[in-house]
Amino acid sequence: MNNSCIFCKIANGEIPTDFVYQTSKVVVFKDINPQAPVHLLVVPKAHIETLNDLNDGNLSAELIDAIKEATKKLGIKEYRTVINTGKSAGQEVFHLHIHIMAGREFSWPAG
Ligand code: AMP
Repeated sequence: MNNSCIFCKIANGEIPTDFVYQTSKVVVFKDINPQAPVHLLVVPKAHIETLNDLNDGNLSAELIDAIKEATKKLGIKEYRTVINTGKSAGQEVFHLHIHIMAGREFSWPAG
C-alpha cells in the first residue's frame, strides 16, 4: 500500500468504489474517463508500479483470469486489453493496471 497512490486507495477500499469483480488480490472497476462504452481497469491490490515490476506468476495469472471473469460477468465477448508501460507508452498512473475496452470498433494498428 502506497499512501500517495490513487489505485492503492481504490483497490484497498480507502476510496469507496463499486467493483465489477474482485478477488483477494485483484479488483476490477470502471475507468473514470472512459474511452469506450465499456472501459474497465484490472488492478492488483499490491502496489506494483509497472508490468516490468510484476514478478509473481500467480498474480500474473490472477490478473488474466480477472479479465476473463469480469468480461464474462458482463456478457462481453469482444474487447481490447491494453497495458501502458512507462511514460512514453502512455502510462499516467504508476500502479499496474490492464485496460479492458469494449462496445465500439477499434482500429489496428494502434496509434
Ligand atoms: P494509464 O494512462 O494507462 O496510466 O491509464 C490510467 C487510467 O486511469 C486512465 O484511463 C484514467 O482515466 C484512469 N483513472 C485515473 N484516476 C482514476 C480514478 N480515480 N478512478 C478510475 N479511473 C481512474
